[in-house]
Amino acid sequence: MSRDTNRVQRKVRIPSNKRKKSSSKQDKKPGEIACGISGCDDHADKHLGGRSLSQENAIDTWGEGAFKVRKNRVRVCKACYKAWKKDNKDDGTPHY
Ligand SMILES: [Zn+2]
Repeated sequence: MSRDTNRVQRKVRIPSNKRKKSSSKQDKKPGEIACGISGCDDHADKHLGGRSLSQENAIDTWGEGAFKVRKNRVRVCKACYKAWKKDNKDDGTPHY
């Protein structure tokens, strides 16, 4: 019955202002390449899982003019790439 009375002071506050500060430029992995899909705020950097698709591929999924083209490629973020992949499920490419 002789516990540490120190334990009463258990007000450990986790500084939560590191997260979720409505994009204050200081995220851990800042993206540099914006996702080309209009309406998408994500980044298409490689380390964030981004990819680049051909215009044709992008048109198939999002329609013409719904994305930005860069040197004939469309940079897409991870989520958009997933969406595209889903849209093009098993569409050919039997082998590399
Ligand atoms: Zn995107």
